[in-house]
Amino acid sequence: MSSAESRKPTRFVERIRPAVRALRPYEPGKPIEEVQRELGLDHIVKLASNEYPEGPFPEVKDALRAEMDELHRYPDATWHHLLDAVTEVYPIGRDEVLFGNGANEILELIVHLVARDGDEIVYAHPSFPIYGLLSQSHFDMGVSVPLTGDHVHDLDAMADAITPRTRAVMVCNPNNPTGTYVSEADLVRFLERVPEDVLVVLDEAYVEFVTADDFPDFFRLRERFVNLVSVRSFSKIYSIAALRIGYALGHPEVIGMLQRVRQPFNVNRLAQKAAATALRYQDRVAERRETNRRRLDQLGEGLQERGCRIVPSQTNFYLAFTPQESTEVFGALLREGVIVRPMHSFGLGEGSFRVNTGTEEENAAFLRALDRVFAAGTTGV
Ligand SMILES: *Cc1c(COP(=O)(O)O)cnc(C)c1O
Repeated sequence: MSSAESRKPTRFVERIRPAVRALRPYEPGKPIEEVQRELGLDHIVKLASNEYPEGPFPEVKDALRAEMDELHRYPDATWHHLLDAVTEVYPIGRDEVLFGNGANEILELIVHLVARDGDEIVYAHPSFPIYGLLSQSHFDMGVSVPLTGDHVHDLDAMADAITPRTRAVMVCNPNNPTGTYVSEADLVRFLERVPEDVLVVLDEAYVEFVTADDFPDFFRLRERFVNLVSVRSFSKIYSIAALRIGYALGHPEVIGMLQRVRQPFNVNRLAQKAAATALRYQDRVAERRETNRRRLDQLGEGLQERGCRIVPSQTNFYLAFTPQESTEVFGALLREGVIVRPMHSFGLGEGSFRVNTGTEEENAAFLRALDRVFAAGTTGV
């Protein structure tokens, strides 16, 4: 028995709030190298973390190489070049933007800002699991509201869940893991019901993939609703998930409050360089949006041809349901070298999974693997 087993910090752990002890640590999509190690496979197709398959623009990689000579210097705590770039692309002022170590850090800063014992944060379920993790780890603030039967945010029920204790409402739009969205008309009706002292956080990590005409325009809505914040990410369409950078857009007063609770060097030098460079190529972002739409069609048609049900998506992934209602499909797919994200832990049923768009070749390889798994039966032999 190691000393760590014989001597435990029980008395320390017992003093941690029960809501924190009850949390389950976040389970990320299985990394490619882990599957290679465990199964001894050379070629892996990973469609489990909603990453864009082609990686960053070449100009971003070039800019990063040049930045290597500066790694001994702290990053710019004022994000000067990043603010130049983002205010050129969007109709927004420099004091209306806050950068973070991924959109995840922005979400954490927002919860940190409003956290107070007895107060509440409202969010949907199933949605991005980080809202629950953050809300519960700050004073057990979480209030979760089920999606509708069509896997869409139930904005009426969310508005009903707001009480005088509510400090923030998280609306993941489009929603991860369902790919569904709420329209501008529905969102406006909801915003009209939300008191102005409650922050409405639109998590728009997938906004660049959206093609629906009635999707909410944050820049229009913010003129009317001062309690609205948009949270965005460079991990998805910009494909620099490894560097960790995201941002919030909102009223200068709200951004100013978030500035008070952030760390000075929260965004590393490489992330700043990469994001500032990537923002300059909006034409490529538009191309990626089109490419992703074609790949979604390929993936969606292939899934339906194989008897899987899919939920309509405005993102780079589908929530899908296998005909067999069995979790064993995912183990069998792994042995075929394909990583998807099982969703049964989200309460969506045994055969539910999330799969993102890969390249045309990766999508085809996934569909062929699915054929082999279904042909062998879901016992996964
Ligand atoms: C991926 C994702 C994020 C996290 O983005 P990072 O910038 O990588 O932290 C935030 N929200 C949703 C809904 C996501 O799917």
